[in-house]
Amino acid sequence: MSQNPQRYTITAALPYTNGPIHIGHLAGVYVPADIYARYQRMQGADVAFICGSDEHGVPITIKAKKEGVTPQDIVDKYNAIIKKSFEDFGITFDNYSRTSAKIHHDTASEFFKNMYDQGKFIEETNEQLYDAEANQFLADRFVTGTCPKCGFEEAYGDQCESCGTSHNATDLINPKSAITGAVPTLKETKHWFLPLDQYNDFFKEWIIKGHKKDWKTNVYGQCKSWIDDGLRPRAVTRDLDWGIPVPVEGAEGKVLYVWFDAPIGYISSTKEWAAREGKDWEPYWKDENTKLLHFIGKDNIVFHCLIFPAMLKGHGEYILPDNVPANEFLNLEGRKLSTSKNWAVWLHEYLEEFPDQQDVLRYVLTANAPESKDNDFTWKDFQTRNNSELVAIFGNLINRVTVLTHKYYGGVVPAPEAFNELDKEVLDAIKAYPAVIGSSIEKYRFRESQTEFMNLARLGNKYLADEEPWKTIKTDEERTKTVMYVALQIATALAILSEPLLPHTSVTLKNILDLPASDVENALQWSDITSKEVLLPAGHTINESQLLFSKIEDSQIQIQLDKLEASKAANEAEAAAENAVVEPQKELINFDDFTKLDMRVGTIIEAEKMKKTKKLLILKVDTGIDVRTIVSGIAESFTPEEVIGKQVTVLVNLAPRALRGVESEGMILMTEDASGKLVFVNPDTDGVSNGNIIS
Ligand SMILES: [Zn+2]
Repeated sequence: MSQNPQRYTITAALPYTNGPIHIGHLAGVYVPADIYARYQRMQGADVAFICGSDEHGVPITIKAKKEGVTPQDIVDKYNAIIKKSFEDFGITFDNYSRTSAKIHHDTASEFFKNMYDQGKFIEETNEQLYDAEANQFLADRFVTGTCPKCGFEEAYGDQCESCGTSHNATDLINPKSAITGAVPTLKETKHWFLPLDQYNDFFKEWIIKGHKKDWKTNVYGQCKSWIDDGLRPRAVTRDLDWGIPVPVEGAEGKVLYVWFDAPIGYISSTKEWAAREGKDWEPYWKDENTKLLHFIGKDNIVFHCLIFPAMLKGHGEYILPDNVPANEFLNLEGRKLSTSKNWAVWLHEYLEEFPDQQDVLRYVLTANAPESKDNDFTWKDFQTRNNSELVAIFGNLINRVTVLTHKYYGGVVPAPEAFNELDKEVLDAIKAYPAVIGSSIEKYRFRESQTEFMNLARLGNKYLADEEPWKTIKTDEERTKTVMYVALQIATALAILSEPLLPHTSVTLKNILDLPASDVENALQWSDITSKEVLLPAGHTINESQLLFSKIEDSQIQIQLDKLEASKAANEAEAAAENAVVEPQKELINFDDFTKLDMRVGTIIEAEKMKKTKKLLILKVDTGIDVRTIVSGIAESFTPEEVIGKQVTVLVNLAPRALRGVESEGMILMTEDASGKLVFVNPDTDGVSNGNIIS
């Protein structure tokens, strides 16, 4: 077991405990991380596979408020569901902790204090967004507004989900409180900032020069673009009562920013594990010979490639990640997975409907893994991959081999005669597969590794189809024994090689072949497939045959499609109901207030889409006074061609503001129809001229 003495600390993104987990999480993070961890353990590596629940931050407090319970109630509920899902799907974390655990509060608190004492933070009193109505500072998910980088209009206070950029809440254009809907004011408060700008040279050296070749291009490209844009200090504390108190004087009522404390959760979870196992945790985080790997989804790249490494570097005692193999997103039936819209396949629900078929989902998610671009999960594809790959190729091979072994030899592996050229070719091919599959896994190409695995099963089927033991049994008993012997060697190799990819199936297959489980002494190892001449010796008796996979019927798939249809209908009904709500009248104003507004009739004379935005059009409008540029968020309702020549109502004396670098001088008045499509508020009579005052 010592062919690879390397030490690995493998972390998987801490799931956020405001809901259960779905197939997108499994495909993007947990299945690839588990394949990698299982594979390295099979190579004899010293592996700490670490995860836990992320239980702090604003969304949990918002959900608790909505449901009239405490944040602790929310995290207790979802921590239990999430943990169970991971166990059910065979995700082999060595430790699964919680960021509400004392060991984590202590570890995160110490980590902050250490950096604080070293003078690694900037202390600054400045103005932060404040909701006077709710009597609360606004950061993170408490506030939404337009992303200063890409123009996405529903960016959060700490990050834009559209372009992935992280920013400070005060950078948002048109911020709006998520609690009351109010426009926030600015109020002074003291915070501690991580001066990311001071790490610019470090990032250039470490990422741009150092990881150009070995990091995935999607990860490297994102990091490079942020570093090239120039990094800015980021607040690592918050005015909030749910989280880890900031452990310095003068910080009463403040907690650590959830993205400061959460990645430290990997460290505290490692400590918890080490204490239980009687190990020293420090080499897993501080020894240069340890490979630290973070498995995450693309929305977490900024935190794992920039912010956390800056913290580790700033602290000074820690190693940096060797790789951050982030995946893109998985969609469901062509639409973005959404917890709030219930557009998802929930893991706990999947198992109710497809009991004991965890490996089918693992297989399909790996086959469609969003490794280099967003990918799609469809139920039809799920059925096809099960029926025509798992059942027809892998399952069929094992079934034929084991059934025939019982039928011809009473379940005893027959002794072979001399091997012919084809037999030798097949036996050599078996020996080559561990390296081929392993090399793909080591390069984080899990789809490719699974394709190779299935190629070995295909090879077995072809061998049987060519040699036809069911025919030769009547004409050449000795040749039949040789063929069945070779086929049983393939089955044995598959039992071992399937362990990282299809762990439940691997256990079943080992039972059928009466092989010891992988953790038993003398069990066959990954490397044995290449080095041993005989995997399953003649004379060995196998157990009863049993089917590895079963066919999935159209009716089962239809039930899932109907469920999604129902979600879609419910979402549409909800959206329609929301649109039907009549907003209450605003506060009274006097006539003077009204006359301050200078509204004119204008005509749109030019229009073009703003690049890299979904919603914005850049318009040239003849206001009668002048021809000016107005940026308008109407691109989802109108093409540029549709609006050219339209006569519109324009608020002309709105102070100019820059949207993505384009100065907008005024606003076009709009309303919305029942479906949410925007409609111009128009002077609906001929002969009205541009420049006419609306009063
Ligand atoms: Zn953005």
